[in-house]
Amino acid sequence: MTDTPAANFLSDPFDDDKLREECGVYGVFGMDEAANFVALGLHALQHRGQEAAGIVSYTPDTGFNTVRRLGYVRDHFTKQSVMDILPGRMAIGHTRYSTAGSKGQTALRDVQPLYADFAMGGCAIAHNGNITNADALRSQLIDRGSIFQSASDTECIVHLMARSIQKNIPDRMKDALRIVEGAFSVIAMTRSKLIGVRDPMGVRPLVLGRRGEGWILSSETCALDIIGAEFVREIEPGEMVIITSSGLESLRPFEDRDPRFCVFEYVYFSRPDSVIGGLSVYEARRRIGVELAREAPVEADLVCPVPDSGTPAAIGFSQASGIPYAMGIIKNQYVGRTFIEPTEQIRDMGVRLKLNINRAVVAGKRVVLVDDSVVRGTTSRKIKDMMLDAGAKEVHFRIASPPTKWPCFYGVDTPEREKLLAARMSEDEIRTYLQVDSLRFISLDGLYRACGNPAGRNVAEPQFCDACFSGEYPIEPTDARARGCMKLPEDA
Ligand code: SF4
Repeated sequence: MTDTPAANFLSDPFDDDKLREECGVYGVFGMDEAANFVALGLHALQHRGQEAAGIVSYTPDTGFNTVRRLGYVRDHFTKQSVMDILPGRMAIGHTRYSTAGSKGQTALRDVQPLYADFAMGGCAIAHNGNITNADALRSQLIDRGSIFQSASDTECIVHLMARSIQKNIPDRMKDALRIVEGAFSVIAMTRSKLIGVRDPMGVRPLVLGRRGEGWILSSETCALDIIGAEFVREIEPGEMVIITSSGLESLRPFEDRDPRFCVFEYVYFSRPDSVIGGLSVYEARRRIGVELAREAPVEADLVCPVPDSGTPAAIGFSQASGIPYAMGIIKNQYVGRTFIEPTEQIRDMGVRLKLNINRAVVAGKRVVLVDDSVVRGTTSRKIKDMMLDAGAKEVHFRIASPPTKWPCFYGVDTPEREKLLAARMSEDEIRTYLQVDSLRFISLDGLYRACGNPAGRNVAEPQFCDACFSGEYPIEPTDARARGCMKLPEDA
């Protein structure tokens, strides 16, 4: 294993006001230099986690080889000296954003893939999602003698596999994953198998691809495109696939549940060039803009996106409303993570470091600003101030998601409920707080329509997970309820 020392990161200050996906996973089977393809795939999934990345490869000669590093994929996995450590025709990788509790102190021991030696051979595991009963499982496992080496919830899967009496690794994984609750898209690799599993509700994405004789598992289709792989299909909710040199076997190890894919993947997390459930993410976002223009029309001169994730919805809003589209805000593509200490002065500059108002375009205009979400509201307020400073006559916000009122427990970093603006304020109060001329969020029904459900949200059996908007949690958040630190709708 090759390690780098822990470092202090200052997260992108703009992103403090966004929900953040915590992980992307990628696996390759049966391709020369598999780790190089995994590195490219992880690079395409970098938006799903920017704090750390890891790759494990396997060859019969060298066994399992691991490199886990803090920082961007490109910081490490472009170097020949690093890739030389990762030979073989099989590899899996993971890119990670740490949870709020460990932000700023990312520990290398938490970086995935995790690796464990079992009596029947080694196994590397990479997980996207969150185990909602991990605290309870961890304390039970520790009571029974397990020694944890990381703070990662994923390690519970490893210890549960170690305690299983099954004779092979896939069966041990089945045993372990039947005990854990929550959202998981897991990729695992043994000496001869690449395994992919999705939780019974399929909350987080996982897709299957092919390139020549090789197989690929990936969080998103955009990471198949980067290596020229063909999209085969999605791994279905509750499905386990086992890929060997003989081909692919599909199993159904869990009880059937109604799927509840994360609707926020369409709004923000996934890349717009990915396809989910047969619907392009870009097209879903554009349709959200169309729905918003119908639900919340406004008289204005320009429609401008808050870049980048507001862009397709702004295009849709412009198309449906007839109001001209313009780039009223320009994003500096080169501001990201820095290694400088976060002084107050620099924090205040956060939004300006990343976004600048295109004064020549907005001066004297009534501007509709389309953003993907309002989380804490701090960025929206600063953008509005910058717009007015640049001479905009009116500022109208249109938001491509319903008010974010509840925390996510399924693999997305969310501020505590009290810090979610919409948990404390009505839409009108938020408008007053932001001091904008008007503010409207898309309705849940409008969002569902845009995401391929023309009749809107099925109230009895919603087609997606939308808990952060509705407070209806499809999977019991066991640990959060036990901690009592985040009030849930029933407790409120
Ligand atoms: S709570 Fe929100 S962010 Fe979390 S999985 Fe559900 S829809 Fe996605």
